[in-house]
Amino acid sequence: MPGQNFLFVPGPTNVPARVLRSMMVPMEDHRSPKFPDLTREVLAGLKTVFKTEKGTPIVFPSSGTGCWEAALTNCLNPGDKVLASRFGQFSHLWVDMCQRLGFDVEIIEVEWGEGAPADRYRAALEADTQHKIKAVLVCQNETATGVTSDVAAIRAAMNLAGHPALLFVDSVSALASIDFRMDEWAVDVCVSGSQKGLMLPAGLGVTCVSEKALEAACQSKHPRCYFDYQDMIKNNVNGYFPYTPSLPMLYGLKESLTVIAEEGLENIFVRHHYLAGGVRAAVQEGWGLKLCARAPQWYSDTVSAIVVPEGFNAAHVIDRAFKRYNLSLGAGLSKVAGKVFRIGHLGDLNELMLMGAIAGAEMAMLDVGIQIEPGSGVAAASQFWRNQKVAPQVAAA
Ligand SMILES: *Cc1c(COP(=O)(O)O)cnc(C)c1O
Repeated sequence: MPGQNFLFVPGPTNVPARVLRSMMVPMEDHRSPKFPDLTREVLAGLKTVFKTEKGTPIVFPSSGTGCWEAALTNCLNPGDKVLASRFGQFSHLWVDMCQRLGFDVEIIEVEWGEGAPADRYRAALEADTQHKIKAVLVCQNETATGVTSDVAAIRAAMNLAGHPALLFVDSVSALASIDFRMDEWAVDVCVSGSQKGLMLPAGLGVTCVSEKALEAACQSKHPRCYFDYQDMIKNNVNGYFPYTPSLPMLYGLKESLTVIAEEGLENIFVRHHYLAGGVRAAVQEGWGLKLCARAPQWYSDTVSAIVVPEGFNAAHVIDRAFKRYNLSLGAGLSKVAGKVFRIGHLGDLNELMLMGAIAGAEMAMLDVGIQIEPGSGVAAASQFWRNQKVAPQVAAA
């Protein structure tokens, strides 16, 4: 049917039209005297997004996964011990990468639907009296379950334990949508990507490294080449890249950083919280269904994983939504496959766009036989948003 596809997976997200247009550029010489202007503008803009003065943002031609690998291979030595928690497909994949690269992972296993347990991190760090653990890994927003963790609490646990390990944070589906504070939380490496809160196509790994992480990188004997921080930084200080950068992606990033600056980071966080509230109202009050996230402290403002009733397959809901209503919902991954479908609510969106996703999910659920009241999700979201005293300010775009 004509009309647009409703893209409501939690990444890639909708790319604003002005960002798409900014990417339609003729190619340029990436060694020209003019090129450093673009590099410098983009890297300076990223510092604001990471909330850092002292950290160094780096943009790799990869996705978020490449930055996971960069963090591990730059800052650690072969076989080093790391501490990580696992409570969803993304925190699992990072652990899996550590193991495949030969690191010794102490895993804190957590129920899917909960987040990073600061008390258990603290206990593990206190038990590590010889400081064998070299890095602590946390997934700020577990995209598979719609769970946000308190990174500040993990930093506090590390400080209380008096542990010198590096802190690596996966903020792929949080950065520029849920508050992240590189300097205040003393994060050593933040890992992100272009296709979520930054509202770009996939293709850039966007990361930020602390001074402490760079010192560790100078000591590290781990083999690495393409993802070497120092190679990148040596070129970036002069405004260049060690290899051919993707020009359209850099122009797109420049524009998306402008879009973000115009709305204001804090306004963006408020808007995401406000929009997420409407989705949660639709799920819980409207449809009478449960979120995968088990308690309000874990609720994510960028993605909701919705549990379908026993006896139904969430994959059928997703299939129906796509084929009949041109709506893309996120699938349940691994342990929650078939049990949940996900609505991504991050990036360039507003209430009425989300109403499309809520209405479409509702129609698809009814079509596969799930007993919900027609219109109930839309009504609950409408009620929620209309009852908020202050609507977040409308983006200047
Ligand atoms: C999307 C995502 C990733 C993977 O990023 P890619 O850009 O697909 O490599 C990692 N972690 C989280 C939390 C994510 O949401």
